[in-house]
Amino acid sequence: MICLTSVSNKINIAIDGHSSCGKGTLAKNIAKELGYLFIDSGAMYRAVTLYLIQNNIPLEEVQADPALLGYIKIKFLYDSDRGFYETYLNGVNVEDEIRSMQVSKLVSNVSAIQEVRTFLVAKQQEMGRNKGVVMDGRDIGTVVFPDAELKIFMTAAPEIRAKRRYEELQKKGIHVNYQEVLHNIRERDHIDSTREASPLKKAEDAITLDNSSMTKYEQARLALQWAKGVIQALV
Ligand code: C5P
Repeated sequence: MICLTSVSNKINIAIDGHSSCGKGTLAKNIAKELGYLFIDSGAMYRAVTLYLIQNNIPLEEVQADPALLGYIKIKFLYDSDRGFYETYLNGVNVEDEIRSMQVSKLVSNVSAIQEVRTFLVAKQQEMGRNKGVVMDGRDIGTVVFPDAELKIFMTAAPEIRAKRRYEELQKKGIHVNYQEVLHNIRERDHIDSTREASPLKKAEDAITLDNSSMTKYEQARLALQWAKGVIQALV
């Protein structure tokens, strides 16, 4: 383990990349080691998607009247039993619901809406104002924190990502078909990379991390070495 408790300079770390390539796991591990706050920006897009589903709000209505997004309150609260932050939508824990296939199928269309992005990016930037944040998503290094001191761009082969995601869902008791998961990952990659509003792309100053044949431990060790190097250079 790398101990950084004596270092006072905090940085922001942006982790972007393709769907289901372990960005959240890596971000959580780095945040835990550094004593930083982990923020899952994808959970925020998922929470907005769930809200629209629950209230039968068509996407065109959001574009026509973005003020209705003002009714959406998203919070992350720590669950000591599960050992991680969980997502709350208007006071209700929606951590499991936002991971359902129903939400996964719609989320990339919702996140392609500029009004939704403007609404969530402002919140994300506010969360990172005082530094000490590890945030994962698609546009963190390019739009949310273009000045992040460390930017990592993660990727892995689609089949490997689908297998990992499939196993994760199975473990949670959510029964889906592997082909459906693979199809959803490919489709989200496509929509995320080709949309007009903040498409997924590697920031010029990001380091690529392909974890197709890496363990969670190996990738965390490598990323922590990078973070340690950046923090030490600031001291
Ligand atoms: O990270 P996760 O896969 O949970 O994100 C769900 C979806 O939210 C992504 O497929 C993408 O469409 C969208 N997203 C985004 N920008 C972010 C984070 C997520 O567009 N910063």
